[in-house]
Amino acid sequence: MDFGYTKEQEELRATVREFAEKVIMPKDIELDRECKGSHEILEELGKREWMGFIVPRKYDGQEKDSISLNITYTEVARASASIAANMDVHYLLMEAILRWGSEELKEKYLPQLAKGKLIGAFAITERGAGSDAAAIKEPAVLDGNEWVLNGEKCVVVGATVADAFICFFRTGEGRKGITAFVVEKDTPGLKALPHEPMGLRGCGLGRLVFDNVRVPKENVVGNIGDGLAISLGTLDFGRIGIGCSGLGVAIRSLELATQFAREREAFGKKIGEFEEIMFRLAEIATEVDSARLLLDRAAWLRDQGVRYTRECAMAKWYATELGKRAADFAIQVYGHAGYVRTQDYLQERNLPVVEKLWRDARSLTIAEGTTEIQKFVVGRLVLAEERK
Ligand SMILES: Cc1cc2nc3c(=O)[nH]c(=O)nc-3n(C[C@H](O)[C@H](O)[C@H](O)COP(=O)(O)OP(=O)(O)OC[C@H]3O[C@@H](n4cnc5c(N)ncnc54)[C@H](O)[C@@H]3O)c2cc1C
Repeated sequence: MDFGYTKEQEELRATVREFAEKVIMPKDIELDRECKGSHEILEELGKREWMGFIVPRKYDGQEKDSISLNITYTEVARASASIAANMDVHYLLMEAILRWGSEELKEKYLPQLAKGKLIGAFAITERGAGSDAAAIKEPAVLDGNEWVLNGEKCVVVGATVADAFICFFRTGEGRKGITAFVVEKDTPGLKALPHEPMGLRGCGLGRLVFDNVRVPKENVVGNIGDGLAISLGTLDFGRIGIGCSGLGVAIRSLELATQFAREREAFGKKIGEFEEIMFRLAEIATEVDSARLLLDRAAWLRDQGVRYTRECAMAKWYATELGKRAADFAIQVYGHAGYVRTQDYLQERNLPVVEKLWRDARSLTIAEGTTEIQKFVVGRLVLAEERK
């Protein structure tokens, strides 16, 4: 067993960190204020060849291991959980096409997606069906050589910035009555309406409204009726990415809290010398390492080609809940300075924006399956194992 990263992975971390600190971090603050996503930054990630790790070279991908992807997600999330969320759903579209798509779909979409020339996203949730994805109702009806899609996908990362979506619609009864389609953003009848979320404000979160949107039969991913299996299969992978976002937020929170604990004085001491604060720093540092190990294990299992549903659910739940706890702690350490977002006040005192970390982290325990659902998945598998 080897707990270290390879030289190539360490170099990747350093390169991503440098770009993320210089370009993504300042932009993230601006996107958060303006509540809008950035196609531009995602294209930049594509130009740096970070948007197609899972795609084979024959489709212009980078064909890299999943631990390298974890490193990239985490470094991007340390600078912007919003951009990391965009990356995650972009990878979901590629994963679905790679694992279930026809050769024609692979050739049509993967080269552009892998280079970040097209940005992908994922749309399944409806007002009446979130955790219970099998309950989706919005219909797709076959008309000649086209499917006609109607209804609303009510919360989609990248709705207002992505170029192509993997969308799930009802084509029949029951769990085998859901089908996956690739839908391009400019298809007539498709509208993206922005949300105004509390966190992840820089990911272009919004709704997709389908009004007689016609897609060619060739854009069905897998077979008719495979949709639920595709969504659950891709979400296993996506949960590692969202978990890495939680880890990225936790790392940043720990760094900021540590920095402030070293500098700020009260009662004639650095506040880091108070045991309350020192012990919390120790706890968060230990949890950061635990989350990283859980996430890397899930990624490693994926690369072994074995089922990793249990491990990715554990990692997603643990790392995203940690993101929340760590960001909350960072606010507490900064006191009022962690709570306010008054731009000139913070800038004049050279203080970071801390409260945003908590708002971003708060979303991650809901997106791609709530903490309760992750526990449900793990619990069911634990019970099944015990029966063996
Ligand atoms: C920031 C953000 C980004 C998102 N991005 C996307 C996206 O890109 N694409 C997309 O399709 N969807 C997206 N979603 C939707 C997300 O996947 C759902 O919100 C999530 O699955 C929960 O569904 P729901 O909101 O309908 O809540 P519900 O399913 O109605 O759940 C409500 C509450 O009940 C609990 N609950 C439900 N079932 C159980 C159970 N069996 N046991 C215990 N508790 C249970 C839940 O944990 C939750 O606390 C996003 C959501 C957020 C917040």
